[in-house]
Amino acid sequence: MSENHPDGYLKHKRDDIGKRDPRERTSDYEEIWSPEWDEQKLRDQGERCMDCGVPTCMGGCPIGNIIPDWNDLVYKDEWKEALDRLHATNNFPEFTGYTCPAPCENSCVLAYNDDPVTIKSIERAIVDKGWEEGWIKPEPPAHRTGYNVAVVGSGPAGLSAAQQLNRAGHGVTVFERDDRIGGLMMYGIPDFKFSKKQVERRVNQLRQEGVHFMICAEVGKHLSFERIREDYDAVCLAIGAQKHRDIPLEGRDLDGVHFAMDYLIKENRYQAGKKVDNHITARDKNVIVLGGGDTGADCVATAHRQGAKQVIQISINPRLPDQRPENNPWPEQPLVYKKTYAQEEGGTEEYSLNTNAFVDEDGDGKVDYLAGERVEWTYDEKGSRKDKKVLEELKLSADLVLIAIGFEGAENGPFEDTGLEFENGTFKTDEKMQTNLPGVFAAGDANMGQSLVVWAIGEGRDAAHHIDKYLQGETQLPASIKTVNGPDTASVDKRKIRINK
Ligand SMILES: Cc1cc2nc3c(=O)[nH]c(=O)nc-3n(C[C@H](O)[C@H](O)[C@H](O)COP(=O)(O)OP(=O)(O)OC[C@H]3O[C@@H](n4cnc5c(N)ncnc54)[C@H](O)[C@@H]3O)c2cc1C
Ligand code: SF4
Repeated sequence: MSENHPDGYLKHKRDDIGKRDPRERTSDYEEIWSPEWDEQKLRDQGERCMDCGVPTCMGGCPIGNIIPDWNDLVYKDEWKEALDRLHATNNFPEFTGYTCPAPCENSCVLAYNDDPVTIKSIERAIVDKGWEEGWIKPEPPAHRTGYNVAVVGSGPAGLSAAQQLNRAGHGVTVFERDDRIGGLMMYGIPDFKFSKKQVERRVNQLRQEGVHFMICAEVGKHLSFERIREDYDAVCLAIGAQKHRDIPLEGRDLDGVHFAMDYLIKENRYQAGKKVDNHITARDKNVIVLGGGDTGADCVATAHRQGAKQVIQISINPRLPDQRPENNPWPEQPLVYKKTYAQEEGGTEEYSLNTNAFVDEDGDGKVDYLAGERVEWTYDEKGSRKDKKVLEELKLSADLVLIAIGFEGAENGPFEDTGLEFENGTFKTDEKMQTNLPGVFAAGDANMGQSLVVWAIGEGRDAAHHIDKYLQGETQLPASIKTVNGPDTASVDKRKIRINK
C-alpha cells in the first residue's frame, strides 16, 4: 500500500517531462516529447501525490491504473515495483504514457484548486526505465490450454487481448490487413507523436511470448470470416472504427481535397521508407484542416513538418471557454480550451466556421479556395446544433484541404453477410462483449466507436477475460475496467462515450 505524504504538493510545484521546443521539433520527425527526464525530479513529483482516501484519479483513468501506489513507489525509488504495479492494469504503459490525454490528471484532487500530479509523466518515466533496465521481458505461459483464438486487427485493443489470452495459455493468432502490426499506433498516429520503434518493441515481446502474427491478411478478403470461425475456438474482432466521415459538398472531388487519414497514413509509410503511391505533401501550400480533434491536430503538425506556406484549422463549433463553466465542476472532465501541441507549433485556428463549398476558380481541376461563413449557432435541448445566424461570408485560399471531421464506425463491409449484427456503426455486443454469434467477441473502437488508446487497451483486456471464461468456464485474467470513465459515473454505459477524432 502507498503511504500518505500530505505536504509533498506544498514542497514541489508541478513539473512534467514536457515537450521539445516547437521551433526545433518541427524540423524533424523525432518525438515531440523531451527525450530526457530527471529521476529526482520525477520522485519529487511522485511525492506530490497525497494518496487520497478516495483516489479520484483512478476514476478518471479508463483502465483504473493504481496511480497512488506507483506514485508512491517512484517517490520511494522502488521503480521495478512501480513497473509491476503499472503492468498489473496496463499491458502497454508506454502507449499511454506518451499518447494519453490523461483524463486522470483532470480528476486528481489537486486539480480542484492547484496543478494536478504529473501522472502521465510518472507513468512514462516508469516504463522508460523498465525498458532501459531490461526489466520488461517476454512472459510466455507456463502451460498451453489447447484452445486457439483468432484476433482480427492489431491495434492496441487486438494486441492487449492477444497478450492476455496468450499469457492464459491459449494459442493466439493475430490477423492484420496492413503490412505492419500496430493499428493506428503504426499507421495513423504520426511518428513524431509516437515512435514506431516503440510499437515494434512491444510486438517483438508478444512474438517471443508465442503470439503468431499474420500481416497482409484481411479477413473478408484474403481469408473468410467463416473459415476463421471454423479453425479457431473463439474470435476477437478488434478492427477499429476507421470508416471516414465525409463532407459531401460541392467541389469535394477536386484535386487537393483529401481525407485526413489518407494523408496521415501515406506520410507514415513515407517516413518508414515504404513505397507510397501519390504521396500527399503540404510543401509551399495553403493548407486547410477541417475538424478540431486529434486527427486534425496531427494533420496540422504534419503540414508544418512538410513545409506548408500556411495552415488553418477550422472547427464548426465555437471555441471552448478558458475557464470551467459553473455547470462543469471538478472532477468532471473540464470543457475548456486547450492549445494543441500542433497549434503550439504554429498555424491559425478558426471557430464557428461553416464550410459551404470547395471551389476551383481557374478551372484546372484543383481546389483554389474554401467558401465558408462565420456563424452563430443556436442549439436544441439535447445540445445539438440547430439553427445558424450568418455573420460573415468568407473565402479562404486552399491548395490542400484535409477532412478530419470524425469517423462513422467500424469498416464492417467484409462482415456484412456473415450474420453478425451491428449497432451505431459498431458490432452489436452483450455485456460479455460477445456478438450475436457464439464465440465471436468485439473489442476496442470496433465495439465502442472511435475513442482513445487507453480505452482500446482496456477493452482488449476485458475481451480476453470474457473469452477465457467462455473457453474454460472460469478465468484468472482480470477485467480491466473497474471504474468506467469518471468517479461520478461508475455505472456509465461505455458505448455512449464517443470522442470526436
Ligand atoms: C489520427 C489519429 C490520432 C489519434 N491520436 C490519439 C492520441 O494521441 N491518443 C489517444 O489516446 N488516442 C488517439 N487516437 C485514437 C486511437 O488511436 C484509437 O482509439 C485506438 O488506436 C483504437 O484501437 P483499436 O485497437 O480498437 O483499433 P485500431 O488502432 O484502429 O486498429 C484496428 C486494426 O484492425 C485492422 N483491420 C481492420 N479491418 C480488418 C480486417 N477485415 N482484417 C484484418 N485486419 C483489419 C486495421 O488495419 C487496424 O490495424 C487517434 C486516432 C487517430 C485516427
Ligand atoms: S492511462 Fe491515461 S488516464 Fe490512465 S493513468 Fe495513464 S495517463 Fe492517466
